[in-house]
Parts: sequence; structure tokens; C-alpha cells
Amino acid sequence: MSRSGIGYDLHRLVPGRKLIIGGVEVPFEKGPSGHSDGDVLAHAICDALFGAAGLGDIGTHFPDSDPRWKDADSLRFLEQASALLSARRFGIEHIDATVIVERPKLLPHFPAMRQALAGALGIGVDRINLKAKTNEGVDAVGRGEAIAAQAIATLEE
Ligand code: MG
Repeated sequence: MSRSGIGYDLHRLVPGRKLIIGGVEVPFEKGPSGHSDGDVLAHAICDALFGAAGLGDIGTHFPDSDPRWKDADSLRFLEQASALLSARRFGIEHIDATVIVERPKLLPHFPAMRQALAGALGIGVDRINLKAKTNEGVDAVGRGEAIAAQAIATLEE
């Protein structure tokens, strides 16, 4: 049986933080505030995977009150999520995700991001599709104050 889950995440963009998206550092003057590295793409994918597997959400598994996850590399969340799925005999069929940010342009970084995400999840890069949108200057994302991501994951039981 195939099961799907959705994920969404948003982080404020602030000076003095590295912009990590999909496990890749993207050169920019701001980065996401957050307890971990604030990787919105990894977080949205993590929630999509947990949702599809019926395993709750990222906050249940990696609470931001836990000092272990302070400035954590969010690819570690994906590695652990993948191990939990494997233990329950779920295979990851496909992941599709959209990152919404006004600047910088993400397209040139997608090959490295797909590689990093696929590596953390232990799947082929052909199972991950990434898309980028701006918010057309509207709302906090459009003003460059935040970055958001949406993801859908499909698992095979
Ligand atoms: Mg997050």
C-alpha cells in the first residue's frame, strides 16, 4: 500500500546565521533563526515522511528543548527518520518539495541539495524533486524576512 504525507516549515531570516537549505550552505547575507541549523527544506521533508508513516511530526522526535539539537545539522534528522521508516518496513518512493524564498536564486544549488538529501535518506537522487518559488513580494517571505518550504512524501509499505 502506498501512503503520502505533507510537510511545511518556515523560519525567520536573520543576520549572522548561515543559510543552509537541503543540507547545502547557500551564500547569502542572512540565514534562518532556529534551534537547529534551521534547514526549512530538510524539516518539511522530515515532517512529510513522519506524516506518511503515521509517526507524528519533527517536534515529537527532535524537540527544540533538547540541547542535543542545538545548531544540529538537519540532515541528521533525515538520517534518523529514514532509519525509523526502514524499521517499520516503509520504503521512500518519492519526495517532491518547494522552497519559497525571495532571494537568493536556488536553482543552481538544487543538484547539490538533491545529492545531500538523497544521501541522508539512503535513496537515489531520482526520487527527489525540488522546486523554487518567490512569494511575489507579498507577506513576510516576500519581504525577505522568512523562508518557507513545503514537501510531500510517498512511501510504499
Ligand atoms: Mg524548522
